[in-house]
Amino acid sequence: MNMIFLGPPGAGKGTHAQMLMDTLGIPQISTGDMLRKAIKAGTPVGLEAKTFIDAGALVPDDVVIRLVRERLLQQDCGKGYILDGFPRTVAQAMALGEIAAIDVVLNLDVPDAEIISRLSGRRVCGSCGGTYHVSWLNGSDKCPACGEQLIMRQDDSPETVANRLAVYKEQTAPLIKFYSDLGLLRTVMGEGTPDEIQAKVLSALHMGA
Ligand SMILES: [Zn+2]
Repeated sequence: MNMIFLGPPGAGKGTHAQMLMDTLGIPQISTGDMLRKAIKAGTPVGLEAKTFIDAGALVPDDVVIRLVRERLLQQDCGKGYILDGFPRTVAQAMALGEIAAIDVVLNLDVPDAEIISRLSGRRVCGSCGGTYHVSWLNGSDKCPACGEQLIMRQDDSPETVANRLAVYKEQTAPLIKFYSDLGLLRTVMGEGTPDEIQAKVLSALHMGA
């Protein structure tokens, strides 16, 4: 199954992509990882991409597309793949359509208020790296594991989260329309426990029990 996985920051995409990889036995392909690996392996496209990165420039679409094609031709993609973080624009989606047959675009949707509550309630321990949600801390601001002070990451402040969501929506709305028009979009509401959400994901892929 050749899949694109869409979802805003804080939707739990990482968790569910991992479950899908385990269930379907197909790799998750994130553009960032792919880029780093191609550069490390010194493939021709990887080296080309590196010249842009070294110059502090964005890697152009045509280079990214060649990189994606190179990656999708590898053996582990034989049974399919989960594309994460690509495509980001309709132009990229159209270019992808030239080199790959996408079966389904999974859109993990979570209400803004829920994401803001999840992320802005997150507290991390600078000492042991533990991550908690305020709703589990009973008003304490100390790490339950090691007793150190818990902090809120700058990225998790409500204003920053709201801003990240707005940027995500603006970028993704045209992509959602594009794949919806092609009849490939499956939207799953990412609410409930991870197991409940995973059941909805599998059912959206027509693999539900
Ligand atoms: Zn700690």
